[in-house]
Order: sequence, then C-alpha cells, then structure tokens
Amino acid sequence: AKDRGKNNFQFYHPQLNSLSLRKMELETALRKAIEQESFTIHYQPQVDLKTGMIVGVEALLRWVHPTHGFISPGEFIPLAEETGLIVPLGKWVLQEACRQNKQWRDAGLSDIPVSINISVRQMQEEDFIECVERVVQELGVIPSCVELEITESIIQNIDESLLILNQLKELGFKLSIDDFGTGYSSLSYLKHLPIDKIKIDKSFVDDIVEDSSGGAIVKTIIDMGTNLNFTVIAEGIETEDQQQFLIQNGCELGQGYLFSRPLPLQEVKELLRQGIVH
Ligand code: C2E
Ligand code: CA
Ligand code: CA
Ligand code: CA
Repeated sequence: AKDRGKNNFQFYHPQLNSLSLRKMELETALRKAIEQESFTIHYQPQVDLKTGMIVGVEALLRWVHPTHGFISPGEFIPLAEETGLIVPLGKWVLQEACRQNKQWRDAGLSDIPVSINISVRQMQEEDFIECVERVVQELGVIPSCVELEITESIIQNIDESLLILNQLKELGFKLSIDDFGTGYSSLSYLKHLPIDKIKIDKSFVDDIVEDSSGGAIVKTIIDMGTNLNFTVIAEGIETEDQQQFLIQNGCELGQGYLFSRPLPLQEVKELLRQGIVH
C-alpha cells in the first residue's frame, strides 16, 4: 500500500479501515444475495389523506444479511449504485413487484398500482426500456398500474433522460419524481418532463408544524404541483397535525408511519383486502 500516495492516511486510519472493510464485505455479500435472490420487498400504502383509502403501494427493498442482520437500503442502495449491482438488483425488484401486482389483481384483491424506485444508473442502462417492456409483456402487467419513481438527479442529464422518460410514458407507465425539492430541478425543467406525480420529500413534511417557513415551502410545492397538473403526494407523514396541514393546503395523497409502515407481503395483502387504513 506504500505507493497509494494520499490514500495512505485513509488506508491506515483504524476507523475508516473497518468502514471500508465492512464495505468490501457488504459488496461481496450483496453480489451473493443478488445471485441467490435473498431479498424481500415490503410494501407501504399510499393513501387518500381525507378518507384513508389505499390508492397505491410503494415497493421497498429489504435485505437481511446472515450475520449482519437487517441492512438498511440507505446503506446498501448507494453501494449497489456505486458498484453497478443496482442494475441486476433493480431488475429483480421490477420483476418481483410487477408479478405481485398482477397476482393481487388476478386474485381480485386490489387493482391499485405499484410504485417502484428506479435509480438513475439503472435507467441509463442501454437496454432499460427493453427490459421493462419485456417484464411487462412476460408477466401480463398493465403498464398504467406500474409507477416508476425517479429522483430529480435525472435532470443532470436532461436530454438523454427526456428521451427515456418519453418512451416510458408512451408505453403507458406512470412516472413520479421522488424526494421532490431536495434536488436540482428548476421549474422550467419540471414542466417539460412527462411526469404524473411529485412526492414531497419527508424533510419538508417534518418541518410543517415546526415553523411557519416550513409550512410555507410545502404549501408552495403543493400549489405549484397542482398548477402544473401533477398529482401531489407527501411522504413521511407521522402526525395528525401534518396530515391536517396537508389536507387544508390542498394535498390529496400521503404516505407515512401515521397510516402504515412498509409491510411484509402477508400483512399488506390483509390491508389491501380492507382497502383502507385506520
Ligand atoms: P424513498 O424512496 O424516499 O422511500 C421512503 C423511505 O422512507 C423508506 O425508507 C420508508 O420506509 C421511509 N418512510 C416512509 N414513511 C416514513 C415515516 O413516516 N417516517 C420515517 N422516518 N420514514 C418513513 P427505506 O425503505 O429505508 O428506503 C430508503 C431508500 O432506499 C428509499 O427512499 C429509496 O431511495 C431506496 N430504495 C428502497 N428500495 C429501493 C429499490 O427497490 N430500488 C432503488 N433504486 N432504491 C430503493
Ligand atoms: Ca421512493
Ligand atoms: Ca422519497
Ligand atoms: Ca428519501
């Protein structure tokens, strides 16, 4: 390691060393877990804020490592993006969530759409469109029942992204902008994107009742989204005060622990049967 130059310090720093060890170990484990398909998906309901009716579910990846236990997507998704492993992993989620959605529909359980997180790296793969098209055809899923959640970082590569988004839109998929307000999107870009929905990021929802400027930001996002004809959904709602503020300011939909945590398959099926959260 002598000729690593500047990295020498990092290399011998005991804390960083164990961090990067964990990272290498996780990368190996991640590869293996992808091969063995040892992930599961939890589903979090999206609800009508006024009635509690379930209008959609978001698919969220879960990974339980044999020795490290539960590993948060906040940790392994960035690693998967860095290493490119997000491509096969994302493909698996797409397939699995679509298969599930079709099953619920066939069983007469629910005809609500499923939202699937797509990382920019995955979307920019050459064969991404082909891949989603194939999944949908093979499984017999209706594209309009599949919502793809992408983040504002697609804006950094706007021309290429627009091409892909327009194709997805033509195929009938629903598109939403995740974590809205945290990225780079300027309003002028936003109105050119073929999207259906924006998801107000949890960090803004957190601030709603804390201070008046937090509330003002959320109100502005709702008004803007509504004026541009987007469906607006707020994420990370934990309190009734937040729910009330959102309703009063014209936000229709919400998602958060107040209504339901992301649930394992059996539990979400039960909830879908009822169609409503309490
Ligand atoms: P996200 O897409 O913004 O998903 C929302 C996150 O907020 C989820 O965390 C969810 O469990 C959490 N959440 C929902 N309601 C509340 C609430 O009321 N309070 C709090 N404190 N948290 C709430 P999770 O499942 O840990 O996922 C974290 C991130 O990992 C996701 O953020 C998404 O960016 C990424 N991710 C998860 N699954 C996938 C996937 O299949 N593909 C890709 N590319 N990314 C994924
Ligand atoms: Ca999301
Ligand atoms: Ca989000
Ligand atoms: Ca987020």
